[in-house]
Amino acid sequence: MTAHVKPKALENFKARDFRMLINGVWTEGAGPALERVAPGHGIVVSRYPAGTKADAERAIAAARKAFDDGPWPTMTGAERSNILLKAADLIAARADELAFLDCIESGKPISQAKGELGGAADIWRYAAALARDLHGESYNTLGEGTLGVVLREAIGVVSIITPWNFPFLIVSQKLPFALAAGCTTVVKPSELTSGSTLVLGEILIEAGVPAGVVNILTGTGPEVGAPMTTHPDVDMVSFTGSTGVGRLTMANAAQTLKKVSLELGGKNPQIVFPDANLDEFLDAAVFGAYFNAGECCNAGSRLILHKSIAADVTARIAELAKKVKVGDPLDPTTQVGAIITPQHLEKIGSYVDGATKAGASVALGGGALDLGLGQFMAPTVLSGVLPEMTVAREEVFGPVLSVLTFETTQEAIRIANAIDYGLSAGVWSRDFDTCLTIGRKVRAGTVWMNTFMDGASELPFGGYRQSGLGRELGRHAVEDYTETKTLNMHMGARTGWWMPR
Ligand code: NAD
Repeated sequence: MTAHVKPKALENFKARDFRMLINGVWTEGAGPALERVAPGHGIVVSRYPAGTKADAERAIAAARKAFDDGPWPTMTGAERSNILLKAADLIAARADELAFLDCIESGKPISQAKGELGGAADIWRYAAALARDLHGESYNTLGEGTLGVVLREAIGVVSIITPWNFPFLIVSQKLPFALAAGCTTVVKPSELTSGSTLVLGEILIEAGVPAGVVNILTGTGPEVGAPMTTHPDVDMVSFTGSTGVGRLTMANAAQTLKKVSLELGGKNPQIVFPDANLDEFLDAAVFGAYFNAGECCNAGSRLILHKSIAADVTARIAELAKKVKVGDPLDPTTQVGAIITPQHLEKIGSYVDGATKAGASVALGGGALDLGLGQFMAPTVLSGVLPEMTVAREEVFGPVLSVLTFETTQEAIRIANAIDYGLSAGVWSRDFDTCLTIGRKVRAGTVWMNTFMDGASELPFGGYRQSGLGRELGRHAVEDYTETKTLNMHMGARTGWWMPR
């Protein structure tokens, strides 16, 4: 672990002042700005307008007009695709700037932030390809007098609300697909990490997205996010965040029966059998638990180890986790950066305290790390965790790995499924039958076999149960932002209803 030194890159750093984007115009807020203190450096790095309900209403009105009057929804798929491709090129060209913002605002390591930007640009390209392939169906099988055509139409105005843990990546899992479908949007990034999404606004204007098609609001959830989920002129809400706010979003959207897509929390198990390639698994265990400081919906935060290997594997994980480099997010060699806020660090600590009180043991870490500035948490391993303990059931959202054990495959499946979440899971075994049995029985949107947290724009992502509703990415992602319309066409004389002909 490195001692914290204020990085050279921030010596002459001046906090960046951002504005919101409403109807193509960069807009100041009415009140004092929200200040973002860098979690890894303890200094103010960004200021965003504190948006209000009135700002949300103006943005929704702009998006409504841009949808109803066009031209975005009526442009050809090829035209929209070309604009999305241009946006992808501009994202790649400004990747260092965007990654820097995500790094200092969220506390994630800069090397990781750069990787996320590469992934995000790829998603924009993938969505651009889908924009040209969006189509409905035709039925020429309904009899001589009937032709059925099923149209795919853009659903309308979409509210997009995103969290702080992957600021640019998550907006990129939603916005390009909504745009590909022909929707117009109001986007609200987290009030902690709005910078890169606002730069995306500049990029989209340069790429040729017309005014009002993408509006970007800053501010808090209750003030700006809530009206985006209740306003009657919004047709769909696409939300990523905590399960609690996801539930509230669904309830809000229910008032006007909006379509809702939710990507929520996770408590993801990795089930490990004695015949697994343990060297490969150990790396994936440490990566799964500590990537993004564990502030990751996909974190592999529950290890379910076969009893015969549990003691040895836990000791080896603790040894490996000691080598993980926690430190300055701007240091290119850092693997684990800062925790998002001091309050969140406290919450993580209270989960560890609760677990030890309930009978778990700290095999590594267990507390905060003092690196000079900002807030950091030591990679932590808890052994002797039982399925009923809070730490085994709730999302800690920090670098805390809980180790549980099993004896039979059925027991492993039962433990894996015995929680409210179902986002992702991993299974490790050299036996094909074992992997497939787990893959088919664990109730999760993604199951990794002999790997963990790999992803691709082509592969759908989302959760079962309280991990969410709907899927992002994959070839159906654009369809999520559409309605189907049936055109039922008749040729020749109709069969009369009341008067036989
Ligand atoms: P959060 O729920 O606190 O906030 C998410 C967003 O919702 C923010 O923009 C916030 O301002 C907004 N919001 C808050 N209150 C609102 C309200 N009343 N109405 C409308 N919007 C409101 O979540 P967070 O702390 O930013 O992010 C962490 C959570 O996100 C974790 O639970 C994590 O698992 C989840 N997450 C899930 C995925 C996934 O794909 N499944 C990905 C990343 C993060």
